[in-house]
Amino acid sequence: MIRINENYLKLQASYLFFEIANRVAAFQKDHPDKEIIKLGIGDVTKALPKACIEAFHGAVDEMAENNTFRGYGPSQGYQFLREKIAAEDFQARGAEISSDEIFVSDGAKCDTGNIQEIFDTNINVAIPDPVYPVYLDTNVMAGRTGEFNNGRYKKIVYMDSTRENGFIPEPPNESVDLIYLCFPNNPTGVTITRDLLQTWVNFAHEKKALILYDAAYEAFIRDNSLPKSIYEVNGAREVAIEFRSFSKTAGFTGTRCSYTVIPKTCMAYDGNGDKHSLHSLWNRRHSTKFNGVPYPVQRAAEAVYSEKGKAQVKELIDYYLNNAALVRQKLAALGFECVGGENSPYIWLEGKMNSWKFFDLLLTQAGVVCTPGEGFGKCGEGFIRISAFNSYENIQKAMYKIKKALTD
Ligand SMILES: *Cc1c(COP(=O)(O)O)cnc(C)c1O
Repeated sequence: MIRINENYLKLQASYLFFEIANRVAAFQKDHPDKEIIKLGIGDVTKALPKACIEAFHGAVDEMAENNTFRGYGPSQGYQFLREKIAAEDFQARGAEISSDEIFVSDGAKCDTGNIQEIFDTNINVAIPDPVYPVYLDTNVMAGRTGEFNNGRYKKIVYMDSTRENGFIPEPPNESVDLIYLCFPNNPTGVTITRDLLQTWVNFAHEKKALILYDAAYEAFIRDNSLPKSIYEVNGAREVAIEFRSFSKTAGFTGTRCSYTVIPKTCMAYDGNGDKHSLHSLWNRRHSTKFNGVPYPVQRAAEAVYSEKGKAQVKELIDYYLNNAALVRQKLAALGFECVGGENSPYIWLEGKMNSWKFFDLLLTQAGVVCTPGEGFGKCGEGFIRISAFNSYENIQKAMYKIKKALTD
């Protein structure tokens, strides 16, 4: 008899975006003439940078000729891309990472989801609340949690991000082995300082734990005192894996290219307490289950690091940051307490009512779609996330409509 992985039965139906779509569709049906502005989904809206498109086209043409055609590439990614990543994203910022510590892949979602495979089932996992749902669900699938009760899975150490701690959790008192961190955070938009990140790295050393650092939004960091990479902090090479993506940086959400950094000095332990290199474990896993990102996509990603590419990416991010600043300014003027929206495309706002109630209010009174905070965890109750991924004109219009709905 074929049996299922019963851990999947513990998963909570991911009804967030489904429920949002349903409510929007119902409203649209009853008010077909009303314009709706979507500030809900965490997807970029602007086209790929020109430099990336040119490189993409050029590489496609290479695939059309026998003498330049490429078949299977290296699973870890082409050296031309890995060298640029190591030099530009790390060495240029004083972080000691070499090209052979980079694994190019087709998404930070896949990598943050798959990485847990190389760890024991019986480890203790610490996950922030609220946060990107992938970390939690993949550990549920792997059997690292108990049942779901009162909004939380047994055995997971939840790290509350609340107004009281500035939405940055402190190292937990419980014993933990694997720690997920995400900065700039999705959904709160909050960033972490070098000093605070240092306390996490020190904590990991002390507990022989490992930090999984999701830096998918690092390109939005404009304050140069903030770390873009965990490897800008002392001692991180031994206790941290970092995830990056071209998705939010350069509009690759539909093109698919990302990378994971595993320093060769990063270790974990077997049952006897003997050390093992996580770089070699992941290399084994990656080359067994993954066959590389398409050649033209890696050429397009390489173009992000060209002079033109850098300027175009900066312009792209500036555009969204300008949107975010407008959202923040307009909502603050309406008396809302918000965080994020600086060094981040997301604004996290306290609605002073149930998240779904606030969602309905904005939808029906202003025609604006946001994301209810509770979809990202229990601590998101009472909050909503507003995304700056839209046109400036739409953001202006949305802010005007919200003001009108709430003050008339
Ligand atoms: C969007 C996002 C990613 C990126 O995922 P890709 O699979 O690379 O598109 C990773 N982490 C977080 C927190 C995100 O919001």
